[in-house]
Amino acid sequence: MTTTLAIANQKGGVAKTTTVASLGAALAELGHSVLLVDLDPQACLTFSLGIDPEDLELSVHHVLTKGLDPTEVLIETDDGVDLVPATIELARAEAELLTRTGREHVLRSMIEALEEAEVDYDWILLDCPPSLGVLTVAALTAADGVLVPLQCETLSHRGVGQLLDTVHDVRRFTNRGLEVWGVLPTLYDGRTNHARTVLETISETYDLEVVEPPIPKTIKFAEAPAAGRSILATSRSSKGAQAYREVAGNLVARSQRPKVKKGKR
Ligand code: ADP
Ligand code: MG
Repeated sequence: MTTTLAIANQKGGVAKTTTVASLGAALAELGHSVLLVDLDPQACLTFSLGIDPEDLELSVHHVLTKGLDPTEVLIETDDGVDLVPATIELARAEAELLTRTGREHVLRSMIEALEEAEVDYDWILLDCPPSLGVLTVAALTAADGVLVPLQCETLSHRGVGQLLDTVHDVRRFTNRGLEVWGVLPTLYDGRTNHARTVLETISETYDLEVVEPPIPKTIKFAEAPAAGRSILATSRSSKGAQAYREVAGNLVARSQRPKVKKGKR
């Protein structure tokens, strides 16, 4: 059984990409097979896994807009995870898909094509771009769950309501089974009461689960992408790496929880 998780927040710089790379490596350490999908035209995930997007002729863009078989673009990375990479060409996908029937389903189709090719994963993590456009909606449509990285500072919650509205629409129209797995506090400075207060306010206001533990703010994260590996490899025993390992363990437990039956609440 594959669990597909969209890592989404339309705000940039909240550690979506870092979370995808780090959780991917942590799940791989636990012995799970993992696919990461870069859905951001900035291609930061692709780059941070040691692949220069400029060297790629084919990428997720060709799969989503031209129907290329996804096995043609899969890359094995040094972090023990597979990657569907992005390039700047993906910036055109949003506009190209806008007029296409079935655009919400392009990622779901990609995942089905992998299943048909018998390329199976325990986890598929979708690194969403910083918008609520076609690509994010397609990711939510393909996902079992959505995890929202959130930097715990004042005003960081301003986009959360909008994101949850989008989740609500996706549930209504394209993916009834989508579940909100919760918010993951990132860039967390536990020394301040402020961070904890903001987190509590957000989880109460929106009735959201908080995925533990918070990911501490540490300079180690800035160094990892340049090395082409996640922080789990570049700084194995750092607090940040440890936190992501614990989150990965909690997500595995969460994936084994029975699904809430829709319509019975
Ligand atoms: P997003 O994908 O949401 O735009 P990124 O994952 O690219 O966010 O992270 C934005 C920046 O914050 C990057 O420079 C990254 O290295 C840094 N960063 C991410 N997590 C942490 C952390 N826990 N501590 C310090 N810096 C972090
Ligand atoms: Mg990103």
